[in-house]
Amino acid sequence: MGSNTRPINISNGDENVKSKNQLKKEEKQLAKAEKKGQIKAQNVSVDVEQDISDISKGKYGILAMIQSSEISSKTFVDIKNLTTALANNSVWLRCRLHTSRAKGKQCFMVVRQQQWSVQILSVVSDTISKQFVKFCSNISKESIMDIKGKVMITPSQIDSCTQKDVELHVEELWVVSQAANQLPLLIEDASRPVKADDDQDGLNIKVNQDTRLDNRVIDLRTPANQAIFRLEAAVCKLFRDILTDKGFVEIHTPKLINAPSEGGANVFTVSYFKGSAYLAQSPQFYKQMAIAADFDKVFTVGAVFRAEDSNTHRHLTEFVGLDMEMAFKYHYHEVVDVIGSTFTQMFKGLRDNYKKEIDDVCQQYQVEPFKFLDPPLKLEFPTAINMLREAGIDVGYEDDLSTPNEKLLGRLIKAKYDTDFYILDKYPLAVRPFYTMPDPDSEIASNSYDMFMRGEEILSGAQRIHDPNYLTERVKHHGVDVGKIAAYIDAFRYGCPPHAGGGIGLERVVMLYLGLDNIRKTSMFPRDPKRLTP
Ligand code: ATP
Repeated sequence: MGSNTRPINISNGDENVKSKNQLKKEEKQLAKAEKKGQIKAQNVSVDVEQDISDISKGKYGILAMIQSSEISSKTFVDIKNLTTALANNSVWLRCRLHTSRAKGKQCFMVVRQQQWSVQILSVVSDTISKQFVKFCSNISKESIMDIKGKVMITPSQIDSCTQKDVELHVEELWVVSQAANQLPLLIEDASRPVKADDDQDGLNIKVNQDTRLDNRVIDLRTPANQAIFRLEAAVCKLFRDILTDKGFVEIHTPKLINAPSEGGANVFTVSYFKGSAYLAQSPQFYKQMAIAADFDKVFTVGAVFRAEDSNTHRHLTEFVGLDMEMAFKYHYHEVVDVIGSTFTQMFKGLRDNYKKEIDDVCQQYQVEPFKFLDPPLKLEFPTAINMLREAGIDVGYEDDLSTPNEKLLGRLIKAKYDTDFYILDKYPLAVRPFYTMPDPDSEIASNSYDMFMRGEEILSGAQRIHDPNYLTERVKHHGVDVGKIAAYIDAFRYGCPPHAGGGIGLERVVMLYLGLDNIRKTSMFPRDPKRLTP
């Protein structure tokens, strides 16, 4: 390393530091020289200008841009694997600079790989020059580096790192990608634990949500965010694996459609050649059509769009829908039970296999462990209304539940049944979409259900009407244009099994499983009425 070097004054002597323009000029001249073959263009590393007395010459500097011109046989270790078992071995790491602190002839650094961190020490010695230590202390935070160092057991535990028993003593250090000197937010600040009394505590710098979202690429590097999006991936994987094991087939449904699937409101219109099209509000029609096409049990994971001007903690204009639909024999509870057990299996999978990720989120956010029953609690809508009435709320059996009432019900159910997950069955027909099957034994109820986590809705589902004539009647009753959804209604004209299903919002599931306060925390690049970027 460092045999072919470009002289750049990065760190040696404050008064000699060259201006950006000077450096650019030198770079241009070098590039010209390279073209002429005066300098080998391949495998060049940019080194600091080192005086001959620098005993660390060739051991540190800034690497030339990696352009895949060589394949290296160097092996790198992951920070998470740095343990006392590697003591006294020299290893290579590729990592980010998290923090650095220069003190006399020493520079202490903490470096990071995703949620893992380790302390690095560079000290002036027989083999490490003071120029090298100074170079280390001048590297900007969040830069990416290759570090060779000796693994040493620390005399006392390092609380600020995930690797508490070992540190690395630097032997070589090369900057691979420099971060700008001014960061819009610091990972340290963005990772700070959020306490209940935070608002009174003015001592610590807090990073507000807009700053985080405006600079999401940096914000996502915090250990809690690394964990949140790994848990989100886990929810998707569990959903897929559990349903696949139950015999479901994954399907993909169009997002560009000719008619709104959930009625005219809340739909985005996009131009489509000479006409216009809509962005799908759900895969509803298509998953039902897949049932009519004999797929029996289907699920899909994909983008869902809602043109709702809802600036709340739980609404996005684009979210990820986890949808499923299943044919049943005689009663839609056959499907409700499958969905219920899918959730309990998912909660068990998260609890048992993602403890580290859940703990990482808990380090920053105060999270009550998620409680659930197996089999899940199932209550009928009128029972929930009675519970609210007993709590002094004036609510009718034919009304939909308002958000505050849903939350209160969640607290009442938690107190009575000790569960954060439950199913509410038999919603009033009047508050459900046209394709919902009415309850044959009631004037007002329907064969429909919602599922809740910590008192907030995460799934809506129902038995769907599979009889084309009855469906047409209900479509008209709801004032929907039959002509516009003719292809959907026609799907039931050639025989279709009775079926039911549901739609789940991925970001809501992750938010509520972790007890977070805002859906923007569980959407990597959230879209809401006020945010379309980054
Ligand atoms: P809400 O009443 O909370 O607005 P909804 O009744 O409109 O939800 P559905 O159309 O039944 O919801 O969608 C099914 C699921 O999709 C919801 O239970 C929720 O998990 C998720 N979901 C719905 N709308 C949104 C949204 N705007 N942002 C994020 N997730 C959503």
